[in-house]
Amino acid sequence: MKIAAFRHNGKKFLGRVEGQWARPFAGVSDFMDFLRQGCSREESEIPLDEIEFLPPVENPGKIICVGRNYPEHAAEQGAQIPDHPIIFSKFASALCGHRGYILKPPETEKLDFEAELAVVIGKGGKNIKAESYFEHVAGYMNFNDVSARDVQAADKQWTRAKSFDTFAPCGPFLVTKDEIDDPHNLHIRSFLNCNPMQDSRTSLMLFKIPVLIEFISRAITLEAGDIIATGTPAGVGVFRDPPVFMQPGDVIEVEIEGLGRLRNRIR
Ligand code: MG
Repeated sequence: MKIAAFRHNGKKFLGRVEGQWARPFAGVSDFMDFLRQGCSREESEIPLDEIEFLPPVENPGKIICVGRNYPEHAAEQGAQIPDHPIIFSKFASALCGHRGYILKPPETEKLDFEAELAVVIGKGGKNIKAESYFEHVAGYMNFNDVSARDVQAADKQWTRAKSFDTFAPCGPFLVTKDEIDDPHNLHIRSFLNCNPMQDSRTSLMLFKIPVLIEFISRAITLEAGDIIATGTPAGVGVFRDPPVFMQPGDVIEVEIEGLGRLRNRIR
């Protein structure tokens, strides 16, 4: 099932997407609510053209990101392949929905994209074993780990550079885990103004989802709604020759097999 959060005629909904239609879940306020109580009834369908997409999970307790999780991306920046997952965080206030604007702040002239597979936690836990990761996953979505490279370099760490408002576009919807046979066998791509930028497969991930969930939950309690962005493959703007950065008016898209296509314009 494809689950989207959206606004229509001034009201917020969570609902199921099928083809060009969204069907709101009756009596369900958001994804956390859906996880708690499920949904027994749907309201009448609304054309996707008429809705404003919101982030599928609006208020996650945390967004945990993984750095250098594709060997080719570590190689393009001349960095060593890590021997354990490198994790960092983005703040939930940076979330942005499909078709929403990515706002370029005046602090950066080096606005970059990172196509990533995001995992959404459905059932929390501490010290989760890799082999039982699946029961803790709700589903998957496209994620763009938008980054201000000059701020990242100046700060010498990543939090501010990756947490400006709108720097965490995701969606268009969350795809429940039953619809994805193998999250480690998906085509992952990004396009800037329709030009291919990144083109890889999630099979190349260095630390796979079970290992990430075990590693993270050993230190940090995972909770329902938490988002784990699993890292980006090679081809990001800053390491291209010549470098490519996003400018106002540009359109950036992230597309992972089975998860639809996340499109955002820069403003
Ligand atoms: Mg990233």
